[in-house]
Amino acid sequence: SLERVDVIIVGAGPAGVAAGLPLAQSGLEVVILERGGYPGSKNVMGGILYRQPTEALVPGFWREAPLERAIIEQRYVVLTEDSAIGLSYRTQAFAQEPYNAFSVMRAEWDRWFAQQAEAAGAFIATGMTVEDLVWRDGAIAGVKAGEAGDELYADVVVLADGANSLLAQKAGLHREWHPSEQALVAKELIRLSEEVINERFNVPPGLGVAMEVFGQSTAGLLGYGFIYTNRETLSIGTGALLSDLIESGLNVSDMLDQFKRHPAIAPLLEGGELVEYSAHLIPEGGWHAMPTLFTDGAVVVGDAAGFVNPISREGSNFAMISGKLAAEAIIEAKQSGDFSAASLSRYQELLEESFILQDLYTIRNVTPFVHQRPYLLRDVPAALAAALRDYLTVDGTPKTVKYGKIARRLQAAFPPGRTLRDLLSGARMLR
Ligand code: FAD
Repeated sequence: SLERVDVIIVGAGPAGVAAGLPLAQSGLEVVILERGGYPGSKNVMGGILYRQPTEALVPGFWREAPLERAIIEQRYVVLTEDSAIGLSYRTQAFAQEPYNAFSVMRAEWDRWFAQQAEAAGAFIATGMTVEDLVWRDGAIAGVKAGEAGDELYADVVVLADGANSLLAQKAGLHREWHPSEQALVAKELIRLSEEVINERFNVPPGLGVAMEVFGQSTAGLLGYGFIYTNRETLSIGTGALLSDLIESGLNVSDMLDQFKRHPAIAPLLEGGELVEYSAHLIPEGGWHAMPTLFTDGAVVVGDAAGFVNPISREGSNFAMISGKLAAEAIIEAKQSGDFSAASLSRYQELLEESFILQDLYTIRNVTPFVHQRPYLLRDVPAALAAALRDYLTVDGTPKTVKYGKIARRLQAAFPPGRTLRDLLSGARMLR
């Protein structure tokens, strides 16, 4: 009977499935409840998936999983109103096994990943929304799911319900996140032929490019736009902190339209057909907003715990690693038959040993640092662009005059006192 199982997982995103797969492999009875019609049906991601976390669960997955392109080139671009400054890195090392990262379509990738958990013995119930938790003797003992509010019991409930986890709030594990702790990102999928994408991005079939775009792509707000090449579509998106959007009165879909019209971006999209629009929250409060991660009978993983490194684009990565570590802690708890908070605190220990909590700690002050220095995403790029234009324009001005002008521009963009202070705080921030 399904009324009582070893583990209930709420959400069949990367976090929930990464927890469910090893739990099922270890012989535990696992039910994953997913409100969508199928895993991935409601999920939004820019779409870069790093190889390593999936490989730890499904070795050699790239030979069979639905992947779009292996990413061999990273471009960083800063836009001003009419200019673009870029830096790119491309390597053949990323073009061969075991690869580094892939673009993916979540609807396909999540479904495939969930099938791996099913094959290991996990039961996935789709179209099933968990409405509430069930407590017994002060411990979380199960969930209420579906319209009828059927109760299902388990030793442990894994909260993997994604950004804005209502269940983690109901469990008393975290407060509602503040608008300054969440980004809102709009994304479009634009269809072009495979050949056109290969040509425009200068890549052979099967290989692709990831672009992170700063400055005008977010109307100068803290955040970034992105363009990722899929097989025959491009993913393009942009967004900013909710608090900044509210304060500036900008909305993300206008911001995305403006980004798409930029003269350095529009030619990449030209002739493309819009096939999908979505918008989604990303929890970006990180270290300072981190909830309590475990309680009697439950743990929280992935976006629901705010495990995202926005700087290095690691949301699915953190989601999967945290899911896997939660599974390890639950397997140990099962061996001792103890599912109390004290026993499940092992999950936090494992997270502390992994790079997740270390990285979240390292970057804990990066957002406030950049936020307090809006010139970094506006005036500095504008000055650099103007300096480059001066440098590249041949107009009969003697070089000494030109260099003097450039030096004055750069000095204005990087006033020595402020720059020194910024460098010092920047170094301190990362300590
Ligand atoms: P989710 O993927 O959100 O899964 C949660 C699941 O729970 C969903 O399937 C949902 O339907 C289900 N659910 C929710 N509530 C309930 C309920 N009550 N009952 C039943 N089911 C429920 N990360 C990257 O690694 N690379 C990127 O390039 C990247 N780009 C991004 C671009 C955008 C525009 C956005 C919004 C995010 C991006 N991220 C990226 C972040 C990444 O999408 C998330 O970090 C990742 O999906 C988190 O996985 P998760 O399993 O925790 O949550």
